[in-house]
Amino acid sequence: RDRGNESDDNGRESPAQGPPQRESNNEKLMVVLRIRPMTNDERSRGYRIVTEQVDEKMVVLLDPKGGGKKQDILRKKRTSERQYLFDAAFGGDSTQEQVYNKTTKPLVKSVLEGYNACVFAYGATGGGKTHTMVGKSDNPGCMVRALNDLFQAMETSPEHVFKVTMSYLEVYNENIRDLLNPKSGTLDLRDDSKGKNIQVAGLSEIATNSTEEVMRLLQRGNKERTQEPTAANKTSSRSHALLMVNVKQTAKSRVGGKGAVKSGRLYMIDLAGSERASATQNRGKRLKEGAHINRSLLALGNCINALAEGKAKFVNYRDSKLTRLLKDPLSGNCHTVMIAHVSPVDKHRDESRNTLVYADRAKNISNKVRKNVLDVSYHVTQYQNIISDLKTEIGRL
Ligand code: ADP
Ligand code: MG
Repeated sequence: RDRGNESDDNGRESPAQGPPQRESNNEKLMVVLRIRPMTNDERSRGYRIVTEQVDEKMVVLLDPKGGGKKQDILRKKRTSERQYLFDAAFGGDSTQEQVYNKTTKPLVKSVLEGYNACVFAYGATGGGKTHTMVGKSDNPGCMVRALNDLFQAMETSPEHVFKVTMSYLEVYNENIRDLLNPKSGTLDLRDDSKGKNIQVAGLSEIATNSTEEVMRLLQRGNKERTQEPTAANKTSSRSHALLMVNVKQTAKSRVGGKGAVKSGRLYMIDLAGSERASATQNRGKRLKEGAHINRSLLALGNCINALAEGKAKFVNYRDSKLTRLLKDPLSGNCHTVMIAHVSPVDKHRDESRNTLVYADRAKNISNKVRKNVLDVSYHVTQYQNIISDLKTEIGRL
């Protein structure tokens, strides 16, 4: 494949050659599924496990009323259960390192080669998105590990001088806020002078080379994420959090001279919960938020579908703030990974099923016509649901 502007084997810099071309649709979007472990609370309440990892690529959704068992699936016995196949599947015992190595580490490599890359965490609230992306100080997630790897590359590169900066923002109710500088209020999106990369006006960009500081900044930023109590979950996060990492490398021989040699950007996104607004049994404001979340997620799904089908001209990025922000990483010259998250227990079976179906569809995008029809009807159903929620809401007033 065309490798863009990077050094050849003799260390010479090859001229910029535009974005690398993809060989196949399969390369476009990698879809990975992670099932979180059962919590002690869920165990003590006697919940049963219904979503299980079968092998390194397969997940099964069991019927709580009996029927299929994981063993039967392994023995290829007929069951009424649904199996789902992904590029990779991770169970409750998977480590942060395993998930990072499979999903985000390869993206860091391509960003160091001068490309853009994007990883996003999808799934209902409580499914483990923030755990995967941010994690805890003693068990950090993909965002922290990616920056750590970039810092290591910085320290060990004999030929290049690096500049790594990070920005962390929230999209909440179609408003953008700087999570590293919340005092700046709502920020606007602007196309840059070349009309290529979209910019967030006034967004802070922090240069650091300390993994500890990154963890601190992300945890502080997460505290700034808009979180309000809902009936479904007290700490339900209804915002999308987006970490943008810019990497600029200049050949040491050129420092002080003209031109950055390679520059890449890594987008890491902790999406808002994908559960439907009606599940929160909330009214008014909450419902509006739910509709916005669906709008952003639907717009994201539509963009990915259209792109993977080679219909780049028909992608409507302007449908939501999230897709406007992601126009560049999604527009075809960028490696993208989706990590879908599900809870293992029966109580969340419907949400898990929705997530499995969404992720499955994203993965099968290149399966053309039949899937197209499915996609359209799925989105129509989603919109009908939103409309009926709103009608119910109006009826109550
Ligand atoms: P989300 O961001 O999708 O709402 P969280 O990441 O906050 O979900 O996860 C919900 C809870 O489950 C948190 O307490 C988190 O620490 C825990 N959790 C999630 N995934 C895992 C995992 N893979 N291993 C251990 N604990 C997890
Ligand atoms: Mg979260």
